[in-house]
Order: sequence, then C-alpha cells, then structure tokens
Amino acid sequence: MKAGSVLWSGFMKRIQLLGVDVDIVTLSDAVERADEWCRTPQRPCRYVVTPNVDHAVLLRENPELKSLYTTANLVIADGMPMVWASRLTRQGLPERVAGSDLIPALFARPREHELRVFLLGAAPGVAERAASKIHATYPNVRVVGTYAPELGFEHQEAENQSIVGRINESICHLLIIGLGAPKQEKWVYRHAAQIECGVAICAGATIDFFAEHRRRAPVWMQRTGTEWLYRALSEPRRLVPRYAKDACYLPALLYADWKSKQSSQSSV
Ligand code: UDP
Repeated sequence: MKAGSVLWSGFMKRIQLLGVDVDIVTLSDAVERADEWCRTPQRPCRYVVTPNVDHAVLLRENPELKSLYTTANLVIADGMPMVWASRLTRQGLPERVAGSDLIPALFARPREHELRVFLLGAAPGVAERAASKIHATYPNVRVVGTYAPELGFEHQEAENQSIVGRINESICHLLIIGLGAPKQEKWVYRHAAQIECGVAICAGATIDFFAEHRRRAPVWMQRTGTEWLYRALSEPRRLVPRYAKDACYLPALLYADWKSKQSSQSSV
C-alpha cells in the first residue's frame, strides 16, 4: 500500500507510515475497541500490534514479515516518528498510541465483570510481580495466568502447544504478550487460530513496566519523541546500536512516505 492511499480495516482507516500500514485511531478509540473485543472472546483470537521505527526498519529489511502486521486486527502507531510521518504526508494520525499506554487505560475502564488477563513473557518472576501491582491498582482486573518461556521456546512445538493450552485453560479475555519484536508478533500470528480469548496485545516491555522491573521514560520524553534516548541510556549495550541503525534509516523512510504521497496525489 502507498503512503497517501487509504484502506479501511473494520471501522478504521489504515494508512501507510514509515512503510507500515497503521490504523488512524486515538488512544480512546483503541481502548474502546479492545474493551469490546475483551467482552466477546473468540477463536481465532484477535491481535493488536504496536509498530515503531524499529519495526519499520525490520520490515524494510524483511518484507516477508509484513503479513504479521497486515493481518492484525488493530495496528497502533507506537512512536512519535510515525506521528511526524503522518504530518509530513498530511494523513491525520491524531496521536501516538503506545501499547504501554493502551493497556493501563484498558485496565482503568469501568466494567461490570472482572477482566481476566494472561501475561506471557518477561524474565522469570517478573510477570508475577506485575500481577501483584495490577491487582493492587485495578480491582476489576484479575491476572489468571502468567508464563515466562525459556529462550528459544518458539522453536519447540511441544512447548508452543503447552503455552496455547495454558492460555486457553485460563479462560482469559486479554492476552498480553511481552516477548520483544518480532518474536511476539510471529508467535501470535502462528498461534492465533488456536487461541480463544478476546484480544492479544503485543506489548514489548509493558509487563516489565507494571512490575517496575524497568522504568518507563518520563511523560515529557514520551510526548517529545525522546523516549528512545531514555531507553538507550538505561540499556546502552543492547539499544544504542539498534537506535543508531534506526536513526540512519529514518530519513529514508520519511522520504519514501513523502515521495509516495506526492506520486499518489499526482496520479489523482
Ligand atoms: N522477552 C521474553 N522472551 C524472549 C525475549 C524477550 O520474555 O525470548 C521479554 C523481555 O524479558 C522483555 C520483553 O520481552 O520483558 C522485551 O521488551 P522490549 O520492549 O525491550 O522489546 P523490544 O524493544 O526488544 O521489542
């Protein structure tokens, strides 16, 4: 899909930003949609992905990963550069919608029935700590299962099936997957057909944030597009090379969006 052309996904407009098709939604739209899905569990389960510049770079290098994103039920723009790209191409993305904002906002919604949540991922013991914090903060949310798979688990079919079994036995409404990208997206794409729940959200470090195992950047950094700097300083060995690469790619990705928008306008 070209930047500037529009695809409708359900009730939403899907546009291309940094080479990734994303839905034009506000945080409140996304919360409302996810909440509705949590109330109507189904198999295959729906899933939400949260692309940012890292994901855009990954997709540029591995176009075969695109279907992980295009088949998602909701694709939210989890990064200020996506908002900048939408301004540059005048596509009207209203705001950044981070997975780490979507989930607490979903938990905070008033509800008649308990929201049952399964936490998949993070280091051993972290999801249990996250569960305690969640229970203390959101009385209507119950963590009904946690699991921290070992490194390399995704290549073991028996382990994958056992994880699917745990999730289904928990009868959860919401599955939060914190395995890092693109592992979490690949995993849910492969297993959604077997999972019964309302919605799965690929959420990166959100379980770590709930557990206070890692700290999120201050709000002013989240809003100004400098959250990456905070993260890079807290995990320099892992993240500085990644962000340096992203920074090299970003101008080309923005230019490609702008160019594609120009050509779609001139062909109208
Ligand atoms: N993680 C995991 N299993 C893995 C790889 C990663 O549980 O095989 C967890 C890790 O402990 C952390 C999260 O996935 O909680 C990665 O979050 P982050 O936002 O740093 O992901 P990335 O930026 O690498 O996509």
